Amino acid sequence: MDCVFWVKEVGREFDRTRGHFYSAVGERRSSCASNLVAGWGNSRCLILVLRERTMKITDVKVTVWEWKDIPPTRYTLRVKSSGSRKTTMGLVRIITDEGIEGNAFLGSAMAPAADDCKLIVERYKTLLVGQDPMDREKIWQTMSAWAMGNTMRIIGAIDVALWDIAGKHAGLPIHKLMGSYRDSAPAYASSAVFEHIEEYAEEAVSFKEAGWSAYKIHPPGTAALDIKICEAVRKAVGDDYRVMLDSTWSYDYPDALRVGRAVEGLGFYWYEDPLHFDDLYGYVKLKQVLSIPLMATEMPSRGPFSYSPWIMERATDYLRGDVAIKGGLTSCLKTAHTAETFQMNYEVHHGGNSLNNVANLHLIMAIRNCEYFEVLLPDSVQKHGLVQDIEVDKNGMVHAHQEPGLGAQIDFELIESNKVADL
Ligand SMILES: [Mg+2]
Repeated sequence: MDCVFWVKEVGREFDRTRGHFYSAVGERRSSCASNLVAGWGNSRCLILVLRERTMKITDVKVTVWEWKDIPPTRYTLRVKSSGSRKTTMGLVRIITDEGIEGNAFLGSAMAPAADDCKLIVERYKTLLVGQDPMDREKIWQTMSAWAMGNTMRIIGAIDVALWDIAGKHAGLPIHKLMGSYRDSAPAYASSAVFEHIEEYAEEAVSFKEAGWSAYKIHPPGTAALDIKICEAVRKAVGDDYRVMLDSTWSYDYPDALRVGRAVEGLGFYWYEDPLHFDDLYGYVKLKQVLSIPLMATEMPSRGPFSYSPWIMERATDYLRGDVAIKGGLTSCLKTAHTAETFQMNYEVHHGGNSLNNVANLHLIMAIRNCEYFEVLLPDSVQKHGLVQDIEVDKNGMVHAHQEPGLGAQIDFELIESNKVADL
């Protein structure tokens, strides 16, 4: 039995969707919400009964589509670029018996989603169908029991879609469900790898002039050249502009120390991922000798439990993650709150695709301890699949979505016209 009757109001109608009473004597109303039943109890009075009904997931589908014409782009010379010029993306559709559908995107310009799409339908659909989509924690715990690597992307997409359902069901944006802290945040521009030093300097200046408050360099990953790039950018933007370096796990310890001392001297704001992402020992040593804040923990693709040694060993000044590779909003929220208890920021990494970035933005709106929204450049490699993507305003700020759920309008026409398969 999935119904509980708990309100019996005579003479007035209680509209649970609005949270107040309506006078409705003598008027017969049809149900104004799926959990409200109206009817005549006797000849004089309207009897209202609210029925608490459990929503159920009835189906899980994925629409696979192709994203074409992606310009070749790299964020480190150590990993292949998006040189194939096309990728596959997945639209996750979690369907409920209340007509509410939760969505998420899988895939990015650099990582096709095809395998993840198949896994969602073949392995995770049976786990989800029949469940109450509001039981996010139970579902997340079940999915996370053996999770790491690419399964974290799948868990992340399912979790984002469940939050989307919860928001649509409540008529609230996700950040309100989480408990909003703010409705806007500053953005920083995060570069791709350029061939020439001057390109970094020119791009940094252009974002400074556009009103953005910070610029982050993704260098090629060669210590001597990376230092020259940092020097050129600092010279171009002046001493007061905020600049960060993300070395994408490129150096051994001696090079990490050399580059760290250089950017420390240049007054950079943070120094991100200089060493291999699992080199806890190296990060501890580096943090002991550098005064510039160190940022680690963006990788690997694992959940909240993987952060504790980094805190315990004092190996990083920030925790880091995003909904795509850390297991969704539920996971990131746990980690952000853990970081807060240690007075650390949880700086949210870009999400790899447009709808993940919307989810990230909801998360940032709901926590105090994240300073920035990351905008990975260029737009042609990062923005795809929404009618209106997140835009930075003239003051360098991004703003929260206020519509129910994720609140972003998916470009279903584009997806349909580039569709490869319905799974
Ligand atoms: Mg990074």
